[in-house]
Amino acid sequence: MPKPSNSPADQLLFPEWLLTLDTLATDSGLQPLENHALVLAGSEILDILPQKQAQVAYPHLQPQYLDNQVLLPGLHNMHGHAGMTLFRGMADDLPLMTWLEEHIWPAEGQHISEDFVRAGTRLAVAEMLLNGTTCFSDMYFFPEVVAQVAEEMGIRALICAPIIDFPNPWSSSADDALEKTQALYQQYQDNPRVKLAFGPHAPYTVSDATLQKLLDINRDLQLKVQMHVHETAFEVTQATEDNGINPLQRLDQLGLVDANFQAVHLTQATPEDIQLLADRQASVVHCPQSNLKLASGFCAVEALHQAGVSVSLGTDGAASNNDLDLWAEMQTAALLAKAVHQDAAALPATAALQMATVEGGKALSNSPFTGQLRKGFAADLCSLKLDAPDCWPIHHLTSQLVYGRMGDKVTNVWVAGQQRVKDGKLCGLDLKLLKSEATAWRNRIKETFQSQDADA
Ligand SMILES: [Zn+2]
Repeated sequence: MPKPSNSPADQLLFPEWLLTLDTLATDSGLQPLENHALVLAGSEILDILPQKQAQVAYPHLQPQYLDNQVLLPGLHNMHGHAGMTLFRGMADDLPLMTWLEEHIWPAEGQHISEDFVRAGTRLAVAEMLLNGTTCFSDMYFFPEVVAQVAEEMGIRALICAPIIDFPNPWSSSADDALEKTQALYQQYQDNPRVKLAFGPHAPYTVSDATLQKLLDINRDLQLKVQMHVHETAFEVTQATEDNGINPLQRLDQLGLVDANFQAVHLTQATPEDIQLLADRQASVVHCPQSNLKLASGFCAVEALHQAGVSVSLGTDGAASNNDLDLWAEMQTAALLAKAVHQDAAALPATAALQMATVEGGKALSNSPFTGQLRKGFAADLCSLKLDAPDCWPIHHLTSQLVYGRMGDKVTNVWVAGQQRVKDGKLCGLDLKLLKSEATAWRNRIKETFQSQDADA
């Protein structure tokens, strides 16, 4: 449990509605509180109490009134490749292998560098902060650059350093990647906002020998391990033919599937796979829009929930989405679950909202605690202004948040008590600069493909 804050109260927020999503509350924090205040102390939540009492208890603080706004925990985007934001919309409506082999991999081969990852990650973080995302998990080359950008831009991050058997722009071998990950971990181990994790790319790009080494190293470190698992039926069929067991079973035999393990996608899962994940207390990251766009398959979220498996949400990279909007992801997850399970009651709005907040917080780490508004938890918050006609009338706030159009209604965002978005604008960030950087990269990428066409 979180320890009480040592800092004095320094911010008093008076929203119209406060949605705590506090799992200890009798209603799991899903009923909005009215006329309540949130009190912050440094990077943490100090108190939640009626506004009248707050004015008496904290007379030295000037309240920040959030009229017509709902204040809730910031969203957690638990899987993505921020650098790939520069490939947004580059090659759409293509099958997975054509998309990868003819577009993404050649473009990565030509352009991936520290500068590319820096520009792409800066753009991604700006987009995420503006839509209320306070924490993101990333798996991409040059994780030290991603960590640096997260640190500079003031967002919380779980950096999953990419572990791949073959040489790539970041590492000459899997051993090299494992060494670099440990060095990065040393650098960030005391950082309150940026955490390191292992990101073995996928069962088909990482050998048993590499995974054994990773496990040996992680016996002491106990870092999270995030991996693309069972993304497509082809991946599972091929591996089962080669090994006699499916990829998840193989990973379990190695000892990788435990409480630190996060399986991204899992569009293919037998009842035995689901039970295995539940038994090992492993978690799943569901990326519904990316799965739909690449026709990868459908994750059985409802069955995972029924088995007690924690499922959080991710957008995946902007190249296969094409945005990093967790509100849209919640909506898609809730709608898709109804179609997959042929049950309109599957994945209700409240569960979708919990996936993007509470479950994301659980997937992150234990310190500091995030994803709920509760005393001692991190002051990672977002508020949305519900004063547009498409919000009226509000019968059920959580339904409105999940089934309505929400990304553009985010008004204020705090990470660790620092305000990062104020009145819909990024604090201290020049969007013009980000736009010109993105346009310059677009032109360079375009030139590559034009010259390839001319050579052909
Ligand atoms: Zn991915």
